[in-house]
Amino acid sequence: MRVYNFSPGPATLPVEVLEQAAKEMVEYKDCGMSVMEMSHRSKMYEEIHEEAEILLKELMEIPSNYKVLFLQGGASQQFAMIPMNLYKNGKADYVLTGEWANKACKEAAKILKTTVIATSEDKNFSYIPDIKEFSPDADYIHITTNNTICGTRFLKIPDTGNIPLVADMSSGILSEVFDVSKFGLIYAGAQKNIGPAGLTIVIIREDLPENEYASKLPSIFQYKVHAKANSLFNTAPTYSIYMAKLCLEWLKNQGGVAGIQKVNEAKAKLMYDFLDNSPLFSGIADKKYRSLMNIPFTTGDDAKDKDFIKKAAEVGLVNLSGHRLVGGLRASIYNAMPMAGVEKLVNFMKDFETGEGQG
Ligand SMILES: *Cc1c(COP(=O)(O)O)cnc(C)c1O
Repeated sequence: MRVYNFSPGPATLPVEVLEQAAKEMVEYKDCGMSVMEMSHRSKMYEEIHEEAEILLKELMEIPSNYKVLFLQGGASQQFAMIPMNLYKNGKADYVLTGEWANKACKEAAKILKTTVIATSEDKNFSYIPDIKEFSPDADYIHITTNNTICGTRFLKIPDTGNIPLVADMSSGILSEVFDVSKFGLIYAGAQKNIGPAGLTIVIIREDLPENEYASKLPSIFQYKVHAKANSLFNTAPTYSIYMAKLCLEWLKNQGGVAGIQKVNEAKAKLMYDFLDNSPLFSGIADKKYRSLMNIPFTTGDDAKDKDFIKKAAEVGLVNLSGHRLVGGLRASIYNAMPMAGVEKLVNFMKDFETGEGQG
C-alpha cells in the first residue's frame, strides 16, 4: 500500500508518473530497451533530453537569454560552482536564512570574499531578514528562496539592480510563479520538486559565465562548457532527466506552475489554519514568512512529538519528524503531495488532539 510521504527529499512523486515509468521501464516506446540502457548520444534519448528542457522553459517562462543546464552533484556542488564561475571582483554577498544558506556561504568563502548582508540566525532562522544594503562591487548576491529546514520563504524577491541575484530554489522551484528575469542564476537539486535524485538544474543568464577566472577551471566545473555541449559534455543522468520530463508533463497537466500554486496555497492554508487554532500543535516559523512547501510544527513536548510520529506512521502518514536542528515535526508538502494527503494529516492531528484530552 502506498503511504502519504511527507519527506523533505528525496520526496514523494506523482503516482501517475511512477505508473507511466513502470510501464516504460523495460521497453521505452518501440526501441527495444529501457531509457536507462540508451546511449546519451542516441536520437531516442536526445528527444527526451530536449523535451525536458523545452517543458521547463515553458513552465517557468524562461527568457531566451537564459540557458538551462542539467548537471549532477546536487545543490551542494552549486555552492562551489557558483563562486568559481561568477568570480570577477572576488566578492559576493550572502543572505543567511537557514542551514543551507549557511553552507552555501561557507563553501563560497573558500573561493572568494563573502559578506553576510542579512541574517535571521538570532531567532533560529524562523523569519526572513530585510536586506538593507548590498556591496556595490559584489559579483553576485545569494539567497535561498525557500528554507526547507525552518519552513520560511521570501515573499518578495529583492531587487539587486545590476548585481546578479543567485537563488537556491531547491525546495521551492515550480511551486509558485517566479519571474526568472529577476535572477542571474537559479539552481535546484531535483529530488524535492522536480523528480528523483541525481539531477541538478541550473538556469543561468547566458552572459554570466563569460569571464577569465571561469575559463581556467577544469572543464567539468565550467558552466560554459556544459552550456555549449547542451548538458551532454559527459554522460548526463539520463534516467533522472527522463523522470523529470514525466514530472514536468504531469505539472503541465495540473495547469502549470500557476495552477499548482493555487493547490499549494490551499494545502498550506489547511495546515496553517489548523495549527493556528489548535490547542495542542503550533507552527514554528514566523507567520509572515511561512513556506508553502515545508511546515515545521510541534506539540511543544518532545515525547508527544515522538508519539505522534509513531502513531501517524501506523496509519500511512510517514516521514513527519522535524530536522534535528529545529526538532519537533515537519510536513513537506511539495507539488506531488495531493490535497487528500494533507486532509488526512489534518484529520489525524485532530484525532490525536482529542486522544490527548485536548480539542
Ligand atoms: C536539500 C537542499 C539542499 C541540498 O541539496 P543536495 O542536492 O543534497 O546537495 C540545498 N539547498 C536547499 C534549499 C535544500 O533544500
